Amino acid sequence: MGLGQLANCPICDALFVKGIRDVCNNCYKEQEKQYDVCAQYLRKRENRGSTIYELSEGTGVAVKQITKFIREGRISLQNSPNLGYPCEKCGTLIRTGNLCTECMGSLQRQITQQMDVDRRLADEERKTNNKVYQYKREDK
Ligand SMILES: [Zn+2]
Ligand SMILES: [Zn+2]
Repeated sequence: MGLGQLANCPICDALFVKGIRDVCNNCYKEQEKQYDVCAQYLRKRENRGSTIYELSEGTGVAVKQITKFIREGRISLQNSPNLGYPCEKCGTLIRTGNLCTECMGSLQRQITQQMDVDRRLADEERKTNNKVYQYKREDK
């Protein structure tokens, strides 16, 4: 979807003109407020060791939204050793990427398996094609 197109806000479903922001103006303002609350919370020395769940509880901001802030780089993990966000698949707390190492590993295995299957199918196909070709030659 390009810029300047009408879209539904993914948060409140209101119709808005899609611009640099992917949410409507109201939700954008709301997000900014939530970000401020989170940033203020983390600025306090006693909250530096918070997990994302403690941060969410302490600020009333949804874990999903905090995850977004972290992934956008707005909330830095550098000064918050216990802060991470849930892996997209299993919910294990991670600090980089979308998936934890375990889910990354199983995804990798799945891809390799799929490639194996594809290769075998391609091999089969080639064999069948060869056979057809041979039969034709024998016919002559
Ligand atoms: Zn909205
Ligand atoms: Zn995972």
